[in-house]
Amino acid sequence: MPASSLDQVVSLCKRRGFIFPGSAIYGGLANTWDYGPLGAELKNRVKRAWWDAFVRCRQDMAGLDTAILMNPKVWEASGHVSSFADPLVDCKKCKQRFRGDKLLEEKLGVEAVAVLKIDQVQPMLLAENIPCPACGSCAWTEAKRFNLMFKTHQGVIEDEGSLAYLRPETAQGIFVNFKHILETMRPRLPFGIAQIGKAFRNEITPGNFTFRTREFEQMEIEYFVDPSGDKKMHFDEWKAGVWEWYTQLGIAPDRLRVREHAKDELSHYSSRTIDIEYAFPWGWGELFGLADRGDFDLAQHSKHSGEELTYTDPDDPKKKFMPHVIEPSFGCDRTVLTFLLEAYTEETLPDGESRTVMRFHPRLAPVDVAVLPLSKKEHLVAKAEELYKKIVHETPLTVDFDVTGSIGKRYRRQDEIGTPKCVTVDFGTLGEDEKQGDKDTVTIRDRDSLEQVRVSLGGIVDALSAAR
Ligand SMILES: [Zn+2]
Repeated sequence: MPASSLDQVVSLCKRRGFIFPGSAIYGGLANTWDYGPLGAELKNRVKRAWWDAFVRCRQDMAGLDTAILMNPKVWEASGHVSSFADPLVDCKKCKQRFRGDKLLEEKLGVEAVAVLKIDQVQPMLLAENIPCPACGSCAWTEAKRFNLMFKTHQGVIEDEGSLAYLRPETAQGIFVNFKHILETMRPRLPFGIAQIGKAFRNEITPGNFTFRTREFEQMEIEYFVDPSGDKKMHFDEWKAGVWEWYTQLGIAPDRLRVREHAKDELSHYSSRTIDIEYAFPWGWGELFGLADRGDFDLAQHSKHSGEELTYTDPDDPKKKFMPHVIEPSFGCDRTVLTFLLEAYTEETLPDGESRTVMRFHPRLAPVDVAVLPLSKKEHLVAKAEELYKKIVHETPLTVDFDVTGSIGKRYRRQDEIGTPKCVTVDFGTLGEDEKQGDKDTVTIRDRDSLEQVRVSLGGIVDALSAAR
């Protein structure tokens, strides 16, 4: 069973160093979060697992890491300057501001609201008698468009000429490099370009911990295909591949669902979009989106930049065309949050004690192994340290060393951060107590089954490597 409430995970994250409120010593900054030592490791592992699956292990994929700041013309071409906006309404009584579409969605559903025009938002709020979440009155101003891009200025002069935006998506960094990729990598269709990076959206109603934040990380792919080929096949392959990635890393399939966007809900550039959603404690929420963007982006950038952004068939140089693009787009922070929620387990052990255990997939657990001397006796600690150094140097594993507290307490601590294996060095290891085990053997304890096996020091590296 995963966490039943978000609070359980928020509290564990703070207590154990996964995620802290941002700028906390100054009273915080709304909706900002900092990944602590274990959170940073977890997030890195999520990104590594993603890059391994979708870039490193595929011949048809290449990676990029593009700048956050881009020429503002990029955002004019992409449509973000003119239409990347939320419909905001003000409560006439308490003056608070809300997203009109979100207020309506709770009552009418996402599909019904997506088709509303901006001037229909206020009449609909009034007709449906939707109260202000802050004060309960039902007096709304007309909806106004509010652009979600963060503005800044590049250089020392703050004028229109120095205006820059923090990118609202990583995708455009890929499209503007399309030509470079063709020239340097000479890929054949179909091929994809991937990148992981920060994006920024000035959301009016962020929330639910790291689910919706104004600064967030994306893991995005643009997969270029021949428009005369089988686009549906590529689309379905990505859908299946992403589902498999999430479930293989431990997300229960019954807490995932695919939501197909209705025709009238689609963005202007997309002919088909699906989301993969997760059953968060507050309801279903988007984890991943897959969109058929056609040639919208390349055509726009070609028009606005004057550059020819076409692909030439290497087998038939007369065949020159603009590829279509299928876009698998992952929210990195909400993917990390999903793994946290899914891993969280409270259980009662056979001996009657209860424990909280994070059942992370071994590839994602921030600490792979903990080495624990049974007691604080000096020669025992020295032996354990020797083993710690051996594992660190002979494997790529992240190893924790803990001598503080009873062995039971230390096991609980490792359970709570999701360490898959604990290695205990005892007096048997030293040849001083046969009842604890043979000389030069140690105990490996499994986080989930609690099974303990005795392994020789010579075989420890193999045993731990195999477990992963
Ligand atoms: Zn109000």
